[in-house]
Amino acid sequence: MSLTLNQLPYLDIHTHRRGSTTDSVSVACLSVDELIQGQLFKDHSCAGIHPWWTEDYTQEEISAFKERILKLAQDQRLWAIGETGIDRAYPEFLDLQRELFFWHLDLAENYQLPLVIHSVRSGSDFLQIIKERKPTTAWIFHDFRGNENLMRDLLRLHPQSYFSFGMSIDNSPQVRELLPLVPLQNLFLETDDQKHLDIHDIYVRAENILKIDMDLLKSQIWLNFKKVSHTSQN
Ligand SMILES: [Zn+2]
Repeated sequence: MSLTLNQLPYLDIHTHRRGSTTDSVSVACLSVDELIQGQLFKDHSCAGIHPWWTEDYTQEEISAFKERILKLAQDQRLWAIGETGIDRAYPEFLDLQRELFFWHLDLAENYQLPLVIHSVRSGSDFLQIIKERKPTTAWIFHDFRGNENLMRDLLRLHPQSYFSFGMSIDNSPQVRELLPLVPLQNLFLETDDQKHLDIHDIYVRAENILKIDMDLLKSQIWLNFKKVSHTSQN
């Protein structure tokens, strides 16, 4: 990249918002409509079946989503697979969530793409899955809410684990405590679906807690992004 440090845009690793500002680059998670219409985001896109969708869509609809995601992956249109995951706050469809997570995991492995993971009270599920499946691509835990032990266990078993934070820096004391303990080379920041803060605001909050120079924070996150990007992607 030929930009000087202070011109580096803010990288937003996970967003459902649209219309990013000129000083940011986003990985946008495709909505159902975008997925069906094959409408990709201008920067980078990721596509997956959110665990909550298991409540809202039929098996036929979910099969159609799978076909679309597979085609996008085959055509090398995706930066990552996801978000996918296990949400124990939605226990009725846990078996289906797990089955879908394994489908996404296989896809990420086949196409060597990062996996964007939604994890709610399911840290031990993922530790077990890592032991069994030994993933080879980056796992990005978005809006990570685990504690330090879980983070260290994930890193020990799968060193390509990444932890992304957003609005929770403001509203979760646990996240504020954890953030300085996350290795900088395993850190991302995100807006997710919250409406009030843009990615610049999230970086300012992280900068204050980490007591790190903003340009260093931005360049480290860009390094992380380059590291997990598939080599055929730009
Ligand atoms: Zn999300």
